[in-house]
Amino acid sequence: YSHTYRHELSFSRNGSWEKQNSPPSLHRILGSDEASTDSIPQQMKISVGLSSGGGADFLKEVSLHDVRLDPNSIYGLAQQTNLEYLLMLDVDKLVWSFRKTAGLDTPSEPYGGWENPNGELRGHFVGHYLSASAKMWASTHNARLYSRMSSLVLALSECQTKIGSGYLSAFPSELFDRFESLEAVWAPYYTIHKILAGLLDQYTLAANSHALNMVISMVEYFYMRVQNVIARYTIERHWLSLNEETGGMNDVLYRLYTITGNQKHFALALLFDKPCFLGLLALKADDISGFHANTHIPIVIGTQVRYEITGDPLFKEIGSFFMSIVNSSHSYATGGTSAGEFWSDPQRLGTTLGTENQESCTTYNMLKVSRHLFRWSKEMAYADYYERALINGVLGIQRGREPGVMIYMLPLRPGGSKARSYHGWGTQFNSFWCCYGTGIESFSKLGDSIYFEDVGKELALYVTQYISSSIDWNSGQILIMQLVEPAVSWDQSLKVKMKISTKTVSAPPSSTLKLRIPTWTSRNGPRASLNGADLSLPPPGNFLSITRIWRQGDEISLDLPLTLRTEAIKDNRPEYGSVQAVFYGPYLLAGLSSGGDWDIKLPDGDASSIAELLSPVPADYNSHLITLTQEVNGSVSALSTASDRSSVVMAAYRPEAGTDSAVAATFRLVAGVDSRRIMLEPIDFPGAVLSHQGEGESLTVSDAASAAAIFRLVPGIDGRGDGSVSLESESRRGCFVSRRGSSNVTLTCGGGGTVDREAASFGVRNGSSEYHVVSFVARGVKRNFLLVPLFSLRDESYTVYFNV
Ligand SMILES: [Zn+2]
Repeated sequence: YSHTYRHELSFSRNGSWEKQNSPPSLHRILGSDEASTDSIPQQMKISVGLSSGGGADFLKEVSLHDVRLDPNSIYGLAQQTNLEYLLMLDVDKLVWSFRKTAGLDTPSEPYGGWENPNGELRGHFVGHYLSASAKMWASTHNARLYSRMSSLVLALSECQTKIGSGYLSAFPSELFDRFESLEAVWAPYYTIHKILAGLLDQYTLAANSHALNMVISMVEYFYMRVQNVIARYTIERHWLSLNEETGGMNDVLYRLYTITGNQKHFALALLFDKPCFLGLLALKADDISGFHANTHIPIVIGTQVRYEITGDPLFKEIGSFFMSIVNSSHSYATGGTSAGEFWSDPQRLGTTLGTENQESCTTYNMLKVSRHLFRWSKEMAYADYYERALINGVLGIQRGREPGVMIYMLPLRPGGSKARSYHGWGTQFNSFWCCYGTGIESFSKLGDSIYFEDVGKELALYVTQYISSSIDWNSGQILIMQLVEPAVSWDQSLKVKMKISTKTVSAPPSSTLKLRIPTWTSRNGPRASLNGADLSLPPPGNFLSITRIWRQGDEISLDLPLTLRTEAIKDNRPEYGSVQAVFYGPYLLAGLSSGGDWDIKLPDGDASSIAELLSPVPADYNSHLITLTQEVNGSVSALSTASDRSSVVMAAYRPEAGTDSAVAATFRLVAGVDSRRIMLEPIDFPGAVLSHQGEGESLTVSDAASAAAIFRLVPGIDGRGDGSVSLESESRRGCFVSRRGSSNVTLTCGGGGTVDREAASFGVRNGSSEYHVVSFVARGVKRNFLLVPLFSLRDESYTVYFNV
């Protein structure tokens, strides 16, 4: 069952949750044959004999402590927004249920949403908070956050001490009794994984050794519990209990083992490698349809750590195969996966587009999968995937600069909106969904995976993401400042500069910088130079290697053409071949569209010529945008296109950018005959203009710029002289655009003095909405679309997949 569904059940008054005593059928209950360890591949049998692992050739991650984001970049701003949220959260409220469970005093009050004191998932967000704050602290060294997270660890430690058994949770251990008896319970190990991972991150990133001791005590407790289940029943019974979601228990336990070397930690990790799922992957069967996506991705991540520890190639294969099927058959253009939290049949995504697509948690987890694979293989496809999912699947899950407002699902149906799904946008203190937990982690580690280092045979630094940042590269004894000019649509290339300085007076060792030439750039267009001298480039999809003894002031310039292209949805049925997403370099473009129109016409149906259908919005267009307002019955209304686009209305004015009403109230002034005789183009209906239909008739939005669309912009005929304007028809002089009643907008003519001068005068404001710097106009069949990056949208209605 999905988390959403189970949250409803657990709070439904009729107690239906308690009645659900049979294990969820969608989790594939193993028959006794399947559950036997004999039916799983030989290599997967539990073995504590460890090899030395295959780690020597792996790229090393670069510590978040050594990377800093440019605070003014979209990444820096997203990080800052998340830091503000982390600092808004209160330790007493976060630990309320932990203290209650431990029998300690509970000052303050608990949070709501999934952290509420009756929710079975309570405490999960606190675990994520420990991880997120450790990562954010490493990324910013913010002193307030350091003291906040240290207090949190201390408060949790007091709870663990009071309980005395090593157990630490916001819910009583009775939930594990139910888990072990195969009774209905909501994923207690899922939450324990978050707390273990959070404490481990506090140890590894913030050097809190007490947090490590807390982890070891907790693991000791759960080791005994699992051993008891196996001793009292059978190991099959334990495997059966794994039909309930256990998060990344294997992942955190393998990670713990790399720190402690304690065989018990490794053995317990093995017991969370879910055989019924991994067995399928080991057999290379794309049979993940029907599985709950976010239950199973973390298990794959755990086995990736297992491969790094043991070198057992089976687990390398499992990770690679899993990534390949998700990428080729189960992921959207955003890099996200799942519909209603589940996977569907491979290559059948055309019928999954709705409001409940790609749970945010799954993107967070797929980034981890691809990151491991890149470190092992240095294959560009994984770096490309990481970029795609980070930009299009992560950046846009925050609502602009609002701290603590994030989504759970990303709607992908035509005319969808992030504000309109089952959950919509969450709230700061009353949501705490799973995706809030992964969300605060995602925005705390934006400095991760930009750089990787190779300290094997050659000393090299991989620059895998173009994100304005700096790195203190200790092994190479250099500092690099990476400056990325924000992409714009009127200059179609990504411009990157790397400025190098040396850390010591003496020369640093010779080292190689490996710069990613992304697959999305054009074949002949990319250029690179070192200190002004051109470098020869490999084809897109490779790394440009530059080896030298770096000198103070060395500067590399990269110019990567941003190509426009379409990409078909992962659906191999012929009728879905025309369902395509539009990309500009790595940026997935969405068309502003409330009505669900999605037809784009390509000349001769040739999908390779999408660039001919798209024209960039020029840089100066933002200075031509206006919103026309009036005071109606004491509140402000704005001239707006109606949602069906056929008419024009006066609608309640909400100046907040990022909403459909702000879009509907924004028009571009287009010179008609001269600068005073103008046309009004709705920002989201490029090429269409407001037209009159004769005296007394409603104004309309028409595709053809006829004489009826030309208006003289004259001083307001209300005669107030306060800067108001009136729109006089060029084809019907003496007739004005005028409000009739509270919302209708018509052309009213002056014969007989019937023009209501107040109703025909408007205040002029800057456009409520504006063009993103990456904006294109796409020619459509029934209408044109304004395309902007999906990540930039807040509540606006949009279409991601077009019928091309
Ligand atoms: Zn989630």
